[in-house]
Amino acid sequence: MLATASLDELRAAVREARAAGKRIGCVPTMGALHAGHLSLMRSALNETDYVVVTIFVNPTQFGPNEDFDRYPRQLDKDLELCRGLGVHCVFHPDVQTMYPPDDATIVEVQGLSTILEGEHRPGHFRGVTTVVTKLFHAVQPDVAFFGQKDFQQQLILRRMVRDLLMPIRIRTCPTVRDPDGLALSSRNAYLTADERRTALNISRALFRAREAIESGELSVAEAEKRLVQVLSSVPGLKLDYAVIRNAETLDPAENTGDQLVGLVAARVGTTRLIDNVLISPPGTA
Ligand code: AMP
Repeated sequence: MLATASLDELRAAVREARAAGKRIGCVPTMGALHAGHLSLMRSALNETDYVVVTIFVNPTQFGPNEDFDRYPRQLDKDLELCRGLGVHCVFHPDVQTMYPPDDATIVEVQGLSTILEGEHRPGHFRGVTTVVTKLFHAVQPDVAFFGQKDFQQQLILRRMVRDLLMPIRIRTCPTVRDPDGLALSSRNAYLTADERRTALNISRALFRAREAIESGELSVAEAEKRLVQVLSSVPGLKLDYAVIRNAETLDPAENTGDQLVGLVAARVGTTRLIDNVLISPPGTA
């Protein structure tokens, strides 16, 4: 496995792989790898021939009061995990490589980037779309793998590659959870045992909303109301939003035939967590 912080070395390796007729897969991450990341890598290894994992804690997607400084960093351990899976290349650039001095270019998907997560984290998605564009130009993958865990992010990136005519296919892989339902996240490392118990309410409430809608027990509006009520009353949990939306547009669900998604963001202690579940239209499950 090639592990490199050098853009030139990365490009040479990818050029060689492509010249050998290999399809290039890319898995962008911020490191602190867990089983969720590993499942993306396994999909990439199954579906493409040369897999580049990128590890970069991207400063521009963190707000001024967010956790950039304390975000977990464990490059050596991450490299071991990648090596163990059979990843071909890990690109772990430094900030100067990704953001040259006087860097002045941004990429932004308008509209979708300013609702829900974007409303609570102004500038976050602009940071994501800008760095992912840079990583795509560095790696030039045929297919890029993202997690459903960051549902709005993968929708925005799909829109970005479509709008900018990037010749890259976006694959969204299912959310990996602990056996009790908590969605895996690098930020779970911040949680105390008590906070983890509190955080479990998020996935439980989402699963209940899914069940209530799919079985026809509650309308979408009623299920959303209950989701908000339930999560607002959990001690130690501060809800940013809890909504049920059209899964393609994130607009309020209008048509009863819409594929739906329930999305939650909440703070538990000082840790901000997000989760979501796909929900089939009522009566089709
Ligand atoms: P991050 O390192 O948090 O930026 O995540 C890198 C990629 O892993 C993103 O595409 C995430 O959506 C994905 N990811 C994070 N957590 C999970 C999870 N629990 N299951 C599946 N994918 C995940």
